[in-house]
Amino acid sequence: MLGLRMSPTLIGSEIYRGSTYGPKHPLAIPRVSTALDLIRALGWVEPAQYRDSPRATPEQLTRFHAPDYIAALMRAEATQLVPEADRARFHIGAHGNPVYPEVFRRPATGAGGTLLAAELTRHGGVVHVPGGGTHHGRPDRASGFCYLNDAVLGLMGWLGQGLTNILYLDLDAHHGDGVQDAFHGDPSVFTLSVHEGARWPFTGEAGDVAGGHARNIPVPEGYNDSEAGWVLHHAILPIIRHLRPQAIMIQAGADAVAEDPLSRLALSNNAYRATLAAVMGLAPRLILLGGGGYNPWSVARCWAGLWGVLNGFAPPARLPPAAEAVLRGLTWARAAGRNPPEHWFTTLADPPQPPVPVRPEIRALCATALRDLPEPPEAMESVA
Ligand SMILES: [Zn+2]
Repeated sequence: MLGLRMSPTLIGSEIYRGSTYGPKHPLAIPRVSTALDLIRALGWVEPAQYRDSPRATPEQLTRFHAPDYIAALMRAEATQLVPEADRARFHIGAHGNPVYPEVFRRPATGAGGTLLAAELTRHGGVVHVPGGGTHHGRPDRASGFCYLNDAVLGLMGWLGQGLTNILYLDLDAHHGDGVQDAFHGDPSVFTLSVHEGARWPFTGEAGDVAGGHARNIPVPEGYNDSEAGWVLHHAILPIIRHLRPQAIMIQAGADAVAEDPLSRLALSNNAYRATLAAVMGLAPRLILLGGGGYNPWSVARCWAGLWGVLNGFAPPARLPPAAEAVLRGLTWARAAGRNPPEHWFTTLADPPQPPVPVRPEIRALCATALRDLPEPPEAMESVA
């Protein structure tokens, strides 16, 4: 009974299948549907573990988002048109945030999934929401392919339950700016983002602590598994052990892998699994989100592997035929999709990277991140 209740929950939705941002957009590719298909083909999810994501209501969304922005997003879906005033003000149909058939329902489903995850973990537990992780979304505008910010909404859900000490860990190649800004100066939510420096949105520099309760690790081009291991052991884990959070939310954008077209980082998916494995036991509540990721094979293999970590499943040396068929069924219009390497079809785990020396700038970034850490909120309360 207890074991059954404690097994991780996977929240997905069929809305992602066949939904695309348009043929020329980086999000033309299927991601959540492929990850779910791969997980199922591996036999890694019991029916009782799966929950269909509810769609967040406008009332739920306006806990963070501006009502006129939500109304504009619903209007854009209904009409498939955006008045120039809405385009300028809300960045819908502009700046990489296209109008597409599910432009309200799809992000609202992602938000509903993360809100459900916060509810399901009220008394502890582990939930994976691969459709979540839209970390750039702003209260009153779309940003960076993100219309809503499900991560912020989920964190607000936890705060609403009375939690006072939450850690948000963002592994996406891009800075988790929307989440950091939403909790600027809030001692209850500590945000930690590891991302490529000098890349859009050009925020999240090493000295940016957002009022004290944030740290940023802007890593250089070529960031690899050896360096990710250093960051894990010399920044992420020390920060978590210092803060002792009641809950951890991880945004696992899969765009920091070497073969992603939108970053110049060079991780394998082994680095993601290693980080999750080390972090997952450090708080009684864990929500794992998706995020970026623009190579369809990499995203599905990375996220399926992370679900495996949550469940204690090691990647098989070679995928079973049904799982291989899922990956062979993908197509990708970019050049790298014309002749994909065989291991994108036949394996879940990337080949191990040979260890390399960790660059001094990585070590320096970690040392900076540990400087002047705030005391955990409980400790402040007991002093008061
Ligand atoms: Zn990203």
